[in-house]
Amino acid sequence: MKILIAASEVVPFAKTGGLADVAGALPLALEEEGQEVIIAMPKYKVISDSKFSIQKLNEGISYSVIGKNINPVRNTEATHEESKISNGVKVYFIKNDLYFNRDGLYGDKTGDHKDNLERFSFYCKRTLDLLKEINFKPDIIHVHDWQASLIPVYLKAIYAKGPFYKNIKTVLTIHNIGYQGLFSKDRYPKLGLDWSLFNIEGLEFYDKINILKGGMEFSDVINTVSPTYSKEIQTKEFGFGLEGVLNKRRSSVFGILNGIDYTIWNPETDKFIAKNYSINNLQDKYKCKEGLQKICNLPLKKDVPLFGIVSRLAEQKGFDILAEGIEKICKMDLQLVILGTGDLKYHILLEGMVKKYPKVISLHLKFDDALAHKIYAGSDIFLMPSKYEPCGLGQLISLRYGTIPLVFKTGGLADTVNKDNGFIFDKYTKDDLIKTIKDSIKAYESKKNWSELIAKAMKYNFSWEAAAKKYLELYAKAKSK
Ligand code: ADP
Repeated sequence: MKILIAASEVVPFAKTGGLADVAGALPLALEEEGQEVIIAMPKYKVISDSKFSIQKLNEGISYSVIGKNINPVRNTEATHEESKISNGVKVYFIKNDLYFNRDGLYGDKTGDHKDNLERFSFYCKRTLDLLKEINFKPDIIHVHDWQASLIPVYLKAIYAKGPFYKNIKTVLTIHNIGYQGLFSKDRYPKLGLDWSLFNIEGLEFYDKINILKGGMEFSDVINTVSPTYSKEIQTKEFGFGLEGVLNKRRSSVFGILNGIDYTIWNPETDKFIAKNYSINNLQDKYKCKEGLQKICNLPLKKDVPLFGIVSRLAEQKGFDILAEGIEKICKMDLQLVILGTGDLKYHILLEGMVKKYPKVISLHLKFDDALAHKIYAGSDIFLMPSKYEPCGLGQLISLRYGTIPLVFKTGGLADTVNKDNGFIFDKYTKDDLIKTIKDSIKAYESKKNWSELIAKAMKYNFSWEAAAKKYLELYAKAKSK
């Protein structure tokens, strides 16, 4: 099958969250399954020619290749090792300096970029044009989130009239329905679409333009990133106003759990952590804890549980109840390392806590991949009390590192964490969060049981291989539409 993945961020080129992890890993897993895959994303300022190996195709398009290597594949029948050559996956960059050569993928400190509508409608149209230019006619275009959601709209409304684009099917994956690409109606002419599509069956949403809704109405199949979240978003509580659209299309709505890339997230080979470790030498995990305590200026205490957070600092990620309970939490016998950026009010609150409890909290208000690795490895418990969570990668990564997740029972967290591999609470209140933290501290005190818990957690496998197989089934469903 020929597949185009269209996503506004892709690891290793540009990342603000889990979407980039998915868009970088799924194509490689699909290629491993024998599919022909390409990716298209905007050429942001961070994607510099000095940092990456980039070739120019023409004035507006350049490309790079990910995953090109020789993978040793063990032949189970014979005793010798075979080599499989992977050609890698081409990532095409859509250039437009006016739109993309600036700081911030979607916005900066002052808020969202004002011209996001123009920026991403340009990206979507240019991506469709690119297909013809390079003569790549995909069976499936798999678009991600609102930034790529105009692709199914333009395809069906305009491009599919030409023979090249006829019969191409589209799959939309929603990574977070809270982000919809909402714009005022007077900007509709900028999209280059007929006004007849600005209606309840199209892009109109309470008299505004809703780009994600357009994608939902026009794509052949709608997918989300966990089975539980695919059900949740069909309810008023989680649907952010789009539950009706999803209900209408419920026979075409699916949920596939993300995987994680174990070549990046693996404590046995991770280059960022103080000492590599595996399930067989867990004592080395404590070297990572010590290393983290040193970097964070926390007392080098082995027996105090170290809680880690790597997250956007947003209400969605549980920061409202965390903020309510933070004073009580800081008084417990624990240490807490927080890495993230987000809402200013949480920055201010947490900075205040650091001043008050410098031996308990260490705060890092930035995006820092290397430190993230150190926190996943060096913490004992990974705190992720998200109010809602489409899939969540943090809990999957932390399980691999034997860092026990503590989560609220929602979305992908409910699908991946249970009493056997972590701590989970099902009433979203500060009191329930605090009670569960206390339970985890208590459990941590029993060293033998704790080692057993770590060993169980590390055995969970959320590889992309399984997810890619499910995506192929989904693509087959889209093709039969
Ligand atoms: P999101 O809703 O933000 O996409 P996910 O859990 O799906 O949440 O994915 C978040 C990804 O971004 C994870 O790989 C996590 O490690 C990473 N991440 C989040 N914040 C930071 C940060 N401040 N520094 C480094 N990595 C981060």
